[in-house]
Amino acid sequence: MKENVREEEILKTIKEYGKISRLELSEIFNLTSARISKVVKNLLDKKMVVEKAVGESTGGRPPVYLSINNENFKNILGINFTSNGAIYITHGKINCEIIRKRKIILDDEDKEKALEIIDDIISKELEQDKDVGALSIVMAGVIDEEKGLSVMSPHYKLKTPKIVEYFERKYNLPVLLENDVRAMALVEKQIGSCRNTENFVIFNVSQGIGSASCIAKKVYKGYNSMAGEAGHIVINTNSIRKCSCGKRGCLEAESSEIAVIKKITSEIKIGKYSILKEILKERELNIKDILFGIRKKDFLVIQVMTEAMEYIARGLNILISILDPEKIVLVGEIFNSKFLMDTLRFELNKISLDIQKCGIEPTKLGEELYFYCSIAVVVENIFENKFFTEKFINN
Ligand SMILES: [Zn+2]
Repeated sequence: MKENVREEEILKTIKEYGKISRLELSEIFNLTSARISKVVKNLLDKKMVVEKAVGESTGGRPPVYLSINNENFKNILGINFTSNGAIYITHGKINCEIIRKRKIILDDEDKEKALEIIDDIISKELEQDKDVGALSIVMAGVIDEEKGLSVMSPHYKLKTPKIVEYFERKYNLPVLLENDVRAMALVEKQIGSCRNTENFVIFNVSQGIGSASCIAKKVYKGYNSMAGEAGHIVINTNSIRKCSCGKRGCLEAESSEIAVIKKITSEIKIGKYSILKEILKERELNIKDILFGIRKKDFLVIQVMTEAMEYIARGLNILISILDPEKIVLVGEIFNSKFLMDTLRFELNKISLDIQKCGIEPTKLGEELYFYCSIAVVVENIFENKFFTEKFINN
């Protein structure tokens, strides 16, 4: 039997199980019950955990379970700065409960001032909520979460990539930074459809395309923190379409929202018939117009979107072959279309093996997913580090 265990390890396990007995803990950690009781007493004294008698006893005392004392942890202020200019601001607790939330939509010019905008939001929100104990920022692009850097951010112009350092100094609070699709994977794992799934993939199609994979319950980051850049798999080697990364024929350049809108717009401009032509006389097309075109069975829209689904199916097939996940959760407005989901399943069936049993389904969380992203990052990391944990407790 082991001699000792770190308090954080015990806390992490209690959080993961929701409620757990001392006996179960001693079995998991292979420690004597006296040893576990000592650590638990410490945690009870610090008010980090609470105990409750639950359920029927089979004679004798009812079993006592331990759970995290949510009341004793400060609030999380989370900001999810999406690549399409919507910002989701959430105040939440470490049990994933949302206290308050709001959404802002930015003008295109404002996206250039990401850091100033986040700064402005944080200072206003902190004035209203004096109980914030941690900040969480979620953004698209390559995020080195350990160093707190935004390594590549094609969607925003950032003066300093050292986001964590900048905000930690300014607000004297622990700050976490994470990539948007990896944060989505954490949400699906904590409160979504992947709570009981060890291996799954999140595949996100918005202005760009990205993925995140959860392997044995851990979201995989990779050596350069770039795991999941599925949008930059070259899927069409004959393509002349240039991607935001500089390469040609990337999945993102063929099937992202921006890519399909561009394709349909240029086809209409060279004279192809589409019911979207009238809209294009007034303004630029958006993804809702494309979905409208699908519903109206517009030939051009269906043709372009079927091709886009064919490319996405090739991308998913690569992920399935490498990772063999139990399921792939799809995020993005295009997956709300039954026609597009059916097309995608049809295209994927054509190129996968029958024995590769991997379900694909759109997220069930809808827009709530975006509000939860920043909270999920803190919930995942809360007991990783002593400094972080201690700063986050009400005392
Ligand atoms: Zn690319």
